[in-house]
Amino acid sequence: MVYFVGAGPGAADLITVRGAELLKKADLVIYAGSLVNPELLRYTKKSCKILNSAAMTLEQVAAAMVAAQEAGGLVVRLHTGDPSIYGAVREQMVLLDKQKIPYQVVAGVSSFCGAAASLKTEYTLPGVSQTVIISRMAGRTQVPPREEIAQLASHGATMVLFLSAGLLETLSSELQQGGCPPETPAAIVYKATWPDEKIVRTSVAKLASAATENGIEKTALILVGNFLGDGFDRSKLYDPSFTHGFRQAERS
Ligand code: SAH
Repeated sequence: MVYFVGAGPGAADLITVRGAELLKKADLVIYAGSLVNPELLRYTKKSCKILNSAAMTLEQVAAAMVAAQEAGGLVVRLHTGDPSIYGAVREQMVLLDKQKIPYQVVAGVSSFCGAAASLKTEYTLPGVSQTVIISRMAGRTQVPPREEIAQLASHGATMVLFLSAGLLETLSSELQQGGCPPETPAAIVYKATWPDEKIVRTSVAKLASAATENGIEKTALILVGNFLGDGFDRSKLYDPSFTHGFRQAERS
């Protein structure tokens, strides 16, 4: 069996129990060296072979997984955060399908959840936004035109931008073109949950200068929206005057 395992955002104890158990049993671990905390490799047994996928092509990764699996080994493909977000896992699954190699996915804590925890905040605040838009600036990977940042920004929803820390001048102007006021609160979270994490609170207009001042060029998330501000409404769920399936409203 091949397991695609989410390593979590950085801190070695933010992998799931299931993921850690699989790492202990693995005969081959292929990890994304640029973003996965190498401390996680300490969970592996002595005989486990470890490969860094940063230096490998998709075909080399697939060939290594197939060879280990055919030799009866347990393979862990360790992805940063959760494998489903910009993980390039689907293309690996297609190659495994072709060779009839069985696989499973173990969910992980995505870095956008790690970033919210570090900021001690909530993306979905009543009265502010009930929607989280996860997107990115176009890089070598194109973004479909209907998903341009300006279009997405026009909703005024909470936005989480991956893979965009090096493109902040353009991001900032596209957000504003989409109707996002320049003073809208924004945050840059560098290496969320790692020991060298940095949190920079700024505004949409000042994103690029804030990143430069703090020496941040990559491995960061850009968070945008009024959820970073002070105002919001109380939840209905815990409102004393609200009755629901598990609780009767208090009498006034
Ligand atoms: N699957 C991963 C994302 C992989 S794409 C996840 O669920 O988090 C790589 C991008 O993720 C980076 O360029 C950066 O934007 C973001 N990223 C990954 N780990 C991060 C972390 N600990 N802190 C901030 N951003 C991170």
